[in-house]
Amino acid sequence: MNQIVGIDLGTTNSEIAIIKEGRPFVIADSEGSKIVPSFVGTSLTGEILVGELAQNQYIIAPENTIKSIKRKMGTDQKVEMGGDSYTPQEISALILKHLKVMAEGYLGEKVEKAVITVPAYFTDKQRQATKDAGEIAGLDVVRIINEPTAAALVYGSNREEDQNIIVYDLGGGTFDVSVIEINSGVIEVRSTRGDAQLGGDDFDHALVEYLADEFNKQHQIDLREDRKALARLNRAAEKAKVRLSNEPFALIDEEFLATKDDAPLHLKVEVERSLFESLIQEKIQSTIECVQEALQEASLTMEDIDRIILAGGSTRIPLISDMIEDNFGIAPRSEIDPDLCVAMGASVQAGIVAGEDIDTVLVDVTPHSLGIEVADWLIDRPILDQYSVIIRRNTAIPVTKSEVYTTFSPDQEQASIRVYQGEEPIASHNTFLGEFLLEKVERTKKGRPEIVVNFDYDINGIVHISARDKKTGKKKQITVAACAETLSDEQKEQATERIAHTEFYQEEVSVQAMTALLERANKVCQTLKNEEAKIELQELISEINQIMQTEEQQRLGELQEVLLDLLYDLEDEDGDDEDDYNDEEVQNTGSPEDGNHSGSNS
Ligand code: AMP
Repeated sequence: MNQIVGIDLGTTNSEIAIIKEGRPFVIADSEGSKIVPSFVGTSLTGEILVGELAQNQYIIAPENTIKSIKRKMGTDQKVEMGGDSYTPQEISALILKHLKVMAEGYLGEKVEKAVITVPAYFTDKQRQATKDAGEIAGLDVVRIINEPTAAALVYGSNREEDQNIIVYDLGGGTFDVSVIEINSGVIEVRSTRGDAQLGGDDFDHALVEYLADEFNKQHQIDLREDRKALARLNRAAEKAKVRLSNEPFALIDEEFLATKDDAPLHLKVEVERSLFESLIQEKIQSTIECVQEALQEASLTMEDIDRIILAGGSTRIPLISDMIEDNFGIAPRSEIDPDLCVAMGASVQAGIVAGEDIDTVLVDVTPHSLGIEVADWLIDRPILDQYSVIIRRNTAIPVTKSEVYTTFSPDQEQASIRVYQGEEPIASHNTFLGEFLLEKVERTKKGRPEIVVNFDYDINGIVHISARDKKTGKKKQITVAACAETLSDEQKEQATERIAHTEFYQEEVSVQAMTALLERANKVCQTLKNEEAKIELQELISEINQIMQTEEQQRLGELQEVLLDLLYDLEDEDGDDEDDYNDEEVQNTGSPEDGNHSGSNS
């Protein structure tokens, strides 16, 4: 039977997935890209372009290119492209056809049936328009499913116990949050909220505005008035935004952006993550408020929520996970590629329709958070032993992340990098993995040097950690192995209980070992000056000799332990404890310290 495919027909990007060997698999195009930009265009020679080609053309010929057609689905608004007029269904059909051809190329067979996802808030009319687009593309749309349902499905939620899930989906152009209830395997969207005009494009725009303002201040030229310069700026801003998800800085370097008095003008600026975060903070806050509204509408509180799942490319921005965790107390799950998770979920639904056995999606993730010890000042009081997380728990691996830190004291010349693994806010309460010293840090005011700490976590759990002084370029690194999963509290309790009731096999005391030990004891006895100790040792040797005749193994074992302890004390190299017995020697030293020491031990 031919495969049923799963399709995420997105506002910004679209993907197609199948079930392969029991697991969701996203199909790539001939260039190896799994993400198809939802752009359609006509070339100068009249050919239809879809995906990246159309996206590239948008910069030079926006009048021949259509983007974000999903926003018009279910309306009667037509769009113009290359002098012709098209319905939204037709444009969507061109994207679907492109995906279908990609899948046919990969599978080597016809693709005729599909499950397509739509936002949970889509009306019947919008759903019908999507179904029609499928038909126009030559696809029998066997199911239309909600995007958050698809995301929940790919996280294996249909197999687990009843639960409530929040799906937070922030893509390029839209934000949706859905509260989902899973009851006896039935997935139901209880409420949905969102903002159809909020997404990664707005974050790019915020950065573009900042850059254009800076350029204007410097050169008195507004790049926003030049379409081409603006398009370049937009691209550069998006690239920088993506970099800032993993690195603390991003360099924007655009040459020949404008001219002034016949001289070319360039834009070269380094953007810090903290600056970018301040530009988008308000927008993210509005998504948090949407989550609260969705919860209220579903008549639930955070206590009822079992997990929060992230979908959509923009959720890779670390500020989003941070703000979700700060506001709701749950670290969101994002280990399945947020760009692909809806398409993968659609393929799970397709597999269910086709009656296939589907395995859980397995992703290698970091089992614990990884970070370093830091210190801070609270007014004039140092707060030491704080834990700063660089890679969060449950991040898909391999992964590389950097953060920037600074010095704690004026003229500080070196920085100690102590690496920990765990979830506790106090660094030393976590598992210590290793440390190193970055020397020759620029000597200056405290808080001025920028030390970039980079964690590179590979597929085998090996972490390469480096620290670099941004100004001097001085760098040092180590490699550590992230520890395997430790026992859960429940596992530990069970193990303690089991061990407590275990009867240990008693190893018999070997006559040979006992004889050797007695020989050693006799030798010590002969050289011992302290009479009291000598008598104690002699009595013990004699008792052991007697027990050896009776073969009372348990008692013999106990006495062997006592003798070993005593010999250990008497033979102690430093002679500390022997001093206890050789009182005279201690008194002879005449040192008050020795006297005290002896006194405390007696
Ligand atoms: P989607 O609509 O889900 O495909 O998401 C597309 C949006 O995600 C675009 O605005 C991208 O710029 C954005 N995006 C993709 N990767 C990242 C990343 N690593 N950090 C921030 N935004 C990203």
